[in-house]
Amino acid sequence: MHNDFVPRSAMVVAAHPDDIEFGCAGTCAKWARRGAHIVYVLVTSGNTGTHDRNHTRQTLAELREAEQRQAAAICGVNTIEFLRYDDGEVVPSLELRKALIALIRKHRPEVVIALDPRPVFIGDEYINHPDHRAVAIATMDAVFPAAAMPLLYPELGEPHRVREVWVQWVEDPNTWVDISETLEVKIQALLAHKSQVGQEVAERIRARAYEAGRGLVPAEAFKVIKLYRRHFEQEEAAPAANAAQANASA
Ligand SMILES: [Zn+2]
Repeated sequence: MHNDFVPRSAMVVAAHPDDIEFGCAGTCAKWARRGAHIVYVLVTSGNTGTHDRNHTRQTLAELREAEQRQAAAICGVNTIEFLRYDDGEVVPSLELRKALIALIRKHRPEVVIALDPRPVFIGDEYINHPDHRAVAIATMDAVFPAAAMPLLYPELGEPHRVREVWVQWVEDPNTWVDISETLEVKIQALLAHKSQVGQEVAERIRARAYEAGRGLVPAEAFKVIKLYRRHFEQEEAAPAANAAQANASA
């Protein structure tokens, strides 16, 4: 199923700098080009993600935040919230859930793009990073029902209903976004994470995108959970009514 939906606003919640670029950056860039306001939330700044002993957690975090800012700007995303949890130590705590509720109520996104809370094993040669699972669980628990409930944490802002959750890196997608126009933008954004990837990643990303698009177009795949009816369904009914009227008078 090809999906041309563009939300007015979206929030992407990731565990590490580069999670978004490996996942949904093509979709984010496409939506940003069509006027969506997009916010990235980085739960960690990847402050232990190196084998280089010249780095400290502090210097690595600073470098990776700069890389993430550059990657986001390439996709037309200029708002990033860094929560600065320690890389490799994230758990789905009430504290993290509350931090995410506060950001959802602050930015009021129509769509939240999240990691998949389910997998422990991915294929038969990879264990999902524990931070990915922890951030994904905290994201789901912040979106529903907490962010929308006025009696839950009124000090964290006005309640807000997220309409849809788009889960990236899923094995059972129900929605595909054609990223023909932004595949190369996605690759450039990923390459901005110089401390993590080299040029060789470009071919891997291209191949993966065409695999997701069944060899026809480069795509990104998601499992979309529709929590509330989309705002534009009612608006779409209006032109249909007009067309019926025109037919009647012809
Ligand atoms: Zn990650």
